[in-house]
Amino acid sequence: MPPHTNTDRQCVSLSNVDVGACTMNQAMTQQQDAMFGIGTFQGVPENHILCFWVNEVETETGRRLAGCASHPRDRGACVVSALGSPWTLAHEVGHVLGLRHVNGTSNLMSTPTASINYNPPQLSASEVDTVRRSRFCQRA
Ligand SMILES: [Zn+2]
Repeated sequence: MPPHTNTDRQCVSLSNVDVGACTMNQAMTQQQDAMFGIGTFQGVPENHILCFWVNEVETETGRRLAGCASHPRDRGACVVSALGSPWTLAHEVGHVLGLRHVNGTSNLMSTPTASINYNPPQLSASEVDTVRRSRFCQRA
């Protein structure tokens, strides 16, 4: 893979994004690496979360997702596709903040997000604690 240049980063296609297996702590795909590198290129602080909206988010097995929150260890980021529900962005940011999936349809971390039927979706007290302890919620 050739090294990225600033010019390369300005030309990243955000239409269809390959997210690999879409798991936490995975190696980033070439597209994720280029996309999330935009934040570094643009000087976004590392304690901020980058969110991208694209047409399609697809796993390495061809499964289309509403969103994916796998991101580099040093950069909080997520991606939301056109398949996303009104709650997908908040759900993916929840993952970046340390939350995991839960059963049911009233919680923000229910999956798929299209099944969430509570407005606004709920978070448990322990989920709120997890979010508050996230490195993204700490003052520098
Ligand atoms: Zn999820």
